[in-house]
Amino acid sequence: MTEFHGPHLDVHIPDDLTVAQFLLDAQHAIRPHRPLSVPWMIDDSAGRKVGFEEVRARTFGLANALSMRFGIKEDDLILIYSPNHVDYASAIWAAHRLGAVVSAANPGYSANELLYQLEVAKASVIITHQASVNVALEAARRSGLPAERVVLFGNAPLLQLVTVDALVDEGLAHPPGFVERRLRRGEAKQKLAFLNFSSGTTGKPKAVMLNHYSVIGSVLQLAFYNRGNGKDIPQKEWRFRPGDLLAAATPFYHIYGLCMLHAMAFIGVTLVVIPKFSFKDFLDSVVKYRITHLPLVPPQVVLLCKQPIVKNYDLSHVRMMSCGAAPLSGELMMQLARDFPATHIGQGYGMTEAVGTIAMFSVHHKLGVIGSSGQLFAGFAARVVRPDGSLAGPNEPGELWLKSPFLAMGYLNNSEATKETFVDGWLRTGDEVSLDENNEIFILDRIKELIKVRGFQVAPAELEGTLLMHPDVADVCVVGIPDEYSGEVPLAFVVLRPDPMKRAASGQTESDRIKESIIKHASEDKVAYKRLAGGVEFIDVIPKNPSGKILRRVLRDKVKQAPRPK
Ligand code: AMP
Repeated sequence: MTEFHGPHLDVHIPDDLTVAQFLLDAQHAIRPHRPLSVPWMIDDSAGRKVGFEEVRARTFGLANALSMRFGIKEDDLILIYSPNHVDYASAIWAAHRLGAVVSAANPGYSANELLYQLEVAKASVIITHQASVNVALEAARRSGLPAERVVLFGNAPLLQLVTVDALVDEGLAHPPGFVERRLRRGEAKQKLAFLNFSSGTTGKPKAVMLNHYSVIGSVLQLAFYNRGNGKDIPQKEWRFRPGDLLAAATPFYHIYGLCMLHAMAFIGVTLVVIPKFSFKDFLDSVVKYRITHLPLVPPQVVLLCKQPIVKNYDLSHVRMMSCGAAPLSGELMMQLARDFPATHIGQGYGMTEAVGTIAMFSVHHKLGVIGSSGQLFAGFAARVVRPDGSLAGPNEPGELWLKSPFLAMGYLNNSEATKETFVDGWLRTGDEVSLDENNEIFILDRIKELIKVRGFQVAPAELEGTLLMHPDVADVCVVGIPDEYSGEVPLAFVVLRPDPMKRAASGQTESDRIKESIIKHASEDKVAYKRLAGGVEFIDVIPKNPSGKILRRVLRDKVKQAPRPK
């Protein structure tokens, strides 16, 4: 029986601390020393530096005010709906100090999309930002949450809403009105810290339950990797060193950004907090702050490789570029390596249900193995399972199943999806992979329904639900098709109702008109990356198995065999 094992994770993982206590209060044997002069965060737009004492004080002030003003307590939920912000971490850790849970949403979501998350997660307070406040208020109103429970990051009061700055001041002006939530030995393994949304292998987005122990574990896995996976390499060889600066443009609401936020706080790397990615501004910031680390998604690699403007910037101080969240072609990675010969370049592979990073290019290599998404992290066992259930050996394809002490606890109120994805302690990733003798993971295909557009999750089931509400649509199946910039974009195969079918057959103009109307309908009330950028194709029947399950693969293969003209 072939099972692959990452290195032995030879580190104490506290099981009686919340994430906030682990990062703000506790010492840990492998925690590197961060001189006090090294800030935790820099606000990209204002240049303001925030140090440890300030983060800790703001976390306390906010926790105190959330408890006094809103009565936030054990297991209440704080929903953060905002671009990256220097107070994001304090908002998370304030909730944890109260025993509350955090769910973070994409700030580009429409009111409908946010409402869905609010209702599944059952939020007591929303923390938002000027840029997203109107949508937050609309979703709050529709969910029955009073507008007074919508709080704004920053210090500029708007629409009479209270700001985080005002809450921090209020909380700091009063003696502690709450008792810090402390955990019994082992309790961190059950105590919910985050509800992150992911569609998993099938269906609509679901609330993934992450406990404190698994988030702390994922921080320590990365810190352990950073030191050479138990080899205790000298600090100058670490991938991340105290005093380095990392461009935090990856959204904190997604597991990729969330992991970076926590792991960098632990290791002592300063986050330059970038609220919105715009390529030129990003390059300006990288140069202005002499940023050393760029966590990227594939479209950003495309920009770095293909945009002539890059030549105007001296990026020689960038020591590492790592790409994750979606597949990166070997050609792009080689081009990046040619263009930035001084930089360490490779991939990382992660997943919400695995609570962050699963693999990353070896700390001993300047260039990751081409085509590999990284080397399996310490603490993981992996199986590559063939369709017949037997186990594949090295370099043979199959679905990746993972085991580690730090997996998600399952999907909230969805035992069926939980049972399908978490099987006997193993997480079915829905990714088709092969592993070689060095535990390098090569992702060959995605078996699950999920489409990844620029690294963002798009659940076909969600788009199909919307499309079925269009009056001309009788049946539909959404699949991802390759796209040079976005990686993938959604395309809808549509079976028309008899009348529109006749109209579509009457000529190209009418057919195009119906397609346009379907595309418009699908994008209404949705964040931009869910748009049917791959278009609509009419089809006579959606292939299904005898029990009515869509045979998505048949349609995906159809697209692969006959690339569509753009
Ligand atoms: P999420 O939970 O949003 O992080 O999505 C996880 C999924 O993203 C994985 O199961 C993969 O399908 C995909 N993914 C993440 N990183 C990579 C990578 N480096 N290469 C290919 N696919 C990736």
